[in-house]
Amino acid sequence: MPLMDVGNTRIWYALKLYLPPGTRLTSVHRSAEDQLAIIEQRARKLGFQFARKPTVGDPPSWEPALQFLKRNDPGNPVAPPGKSLHQRGLAYDLVGPNLDAIKTAVEEAARDGRIRLIPGARQNPRREGVCVHVEIDGGMIDYEPFDWA
Ligand SMILES: [Zn+2]
Repeated sequence: MPLMDVGNTRIWYALKLYLPPGTRLTSVHRSAEDQLAIIEQRARKLGFQFARKPTVGDPPSWEPALQFLKRNDPGNPVAPPGKSLHQRGLAYDLVGPNLDAIKTAVEEAARDGRIRLIPGARQNPRREGVCVHVEIDGGMIDYEPFDWA
């Protein structure tokens, strides 16, 4: 089970009723270190060489890798450490046999008021590589609204 607090769990229960069979939640909360580890792993896999061991507090050690991923893997965007809503525990990654069906289901849950999507500059929910990424800050269970952020 991904790292979740009580609010994440409530949102998951509100959302789950809508999701197509086989949908799995793969990631909720990630620290800045976790986020950097993802960047490092993906960049290395595509052949990027780090000049030194990247650390969160040393942006020049990982910024070139982020640029590299933007150029070489544009379909799978990754936020810099410190910027992802995963870090605040407000983003959910969903995987399953049919990503379009998952995206539609999330939109339906939002229309019904079961979850509250965070408005932003970027599409929410959106396809991100092999998952549907969705940012949620509240929802409703048993017709009782709750806020999470
Ligand atoms: Zn995500």
